[in-house]
Amino acid sequence: MSNLAIAGGAPLRTRPFPARKTMGEAEKQAVIAVMDSDRLSSFYGSPGERWLGGAKVREFEQKWAEKYGFRHAISVNSWTTGLMTAVGAAGIGPGDEVIVSPYTMSASATAVLFYGAIPVFADIDPDTFNISAETIEQVLTPRSKAILVVHIFGQAADMDPIMALARRRRLTVIEDAAQAPGVRYKGRPIGAIGDIGGFSLNYHKHIHTGEGGMLVTDNARLALRSQLIRNHAENLVESQGMDDLCNMIGANYRLTELQAAIGCVQLDRLDACLAHHHQLAAHLDRHLATIPGFTAPRLAEGAGHAYYAYAVKYDAARTGIPRALLVRAVNAELPPPLAGEQPALGQAYVAPLYLAPLYQNKIAIGSKGFPWSMNAGVAYDYGKGSCPVAERMHEHEMLLPSLIREPLTIADIDDFAAALKKVLRHKDELAGLASQTAGTGIQHGHRPAMESNKGKQ
Ligand SMILES: *Cc1c(COP(=O)(O)O)cnc(C)c1O
Repeated sequence: MSNLAIAGGAPLRTRPFPARKTMGEAEKQAVIAVMDSDRLSSFYGSPGERWLGGAKVREFEQKWAEKYGFRHAISVNSWTTGLMTAVGAAGIGPGDEVIVSPYTMSASATAVLFYGAIPVFADIDPDTFNISAETIEQVLTPRSKAILVVHIFGQAADMDPIMALARRRRLTVIEDAAQAPGVRYKGRPIGAIGDIGGFSLNYHKHIHTGEGGMLVTDNARLALRSQLIRNHAENLVESQGMDDLCNMIGANYRLTELQAAIGCVQLDRLDACLAHHHQLAAHLDRHLATIPGFTAPRLAEGAGHAYYAYAVKYDAARTGIPRALLVRAVNAELPPPLAGEQPALGQAYVAPLYLAPLYQNKIAIGSKGFPWSMNAGVAYDYGKGSCPVAERMHEHEMLLPSLIREPLTIADIDDFAAALKKVLRHKDELAGLASQTAGTGIQHGHRPAMESNKGKQ
């Protein structure tokens, strides 16, 4: 008789985990008010008062800036375009090198390419999964222009040494805090510890406006340049007194009044959302502390964490269960995910970015090798082995439970831990299944949760 569900036994739980619910009555009312006004956007792409948007856009920006003490907050229609705006505003251009993490959503690096600059990947720290001053320093060259720091999974990167290095080498620092709204580093809100940074408001993030983003900076010049890029800079540079025309080709990255109205309400929910993530994460921390082979997320000194994702390090040698098989066995004990949700346990995050065809073939803008062709004679190596820690996490060590989210409860986390413990207790039943996993039999584990769902970016 089998005990484990994967071997034909009864699963530990069949009742589904509750579905995510993000919009409430307050958002509905806020949207109706905008609908009634009939002004779904008040932006104009020409000089005059409206080039900075309408009432709700400005209210949302002001509210965000005031909550954290940022001098400037600039809403954008996604955080991908927000990153592009930051790169453009910073004056980064063709042939400049920008240091970035390989273990992040692809846009952290492609934002650089849009201005003809070249992403150079620094490896991640094996405990925090963020790039560090040490790994950044190893890849600096005379062509380095900026560091794009990603606060991955919601944990603040170790900013003090990174800022010291950046100031010493005169590098701009851009913070990708997409996964870490409201997070602090040594008491300071992240986002504008560097020169400019910001947050994603896509549907999957802590709070959202469907799609959207928020740039923040304490630097007035970067703020103005960002506002210009967001809204047809070329038409506005003269009226705004911007005489540096570098990267002043604008776009339309404007948020609508509807989204801004939703955002104002969502921002009020952020603290409670973060507190909920913290509570569940702390509970899972306590469970994992009792299970050999599993290491809960480690916080660097002074670093806050939003637990956008809860990244566990797994030691298969310790448990004797291959990672993919463990994932499959644990998920078999738990209810299958509802539509749009992740399986309870996933393995790895994204493949290190440089392994994508874009970097392997060095074809980005046009098909003649731009922007790498800008630096003829420099060999950019995106080969396997470039960032061994990121590769190790991806291939072997990282587990991503997906249950640190609203509206799950402590009891749900207890069920997850019980499933984990059940699998470990009966691991002898997995013996015959290991070889099967190596073949084609993998279900959930084959496509890591974070990878299989484009949304959780
Ligand atoms: C979500 C995300 C982005 C992109 O944000 P969008 O709003 O979806 O464009 C960029 N970087 C990281 C680390 C993210 O998680």
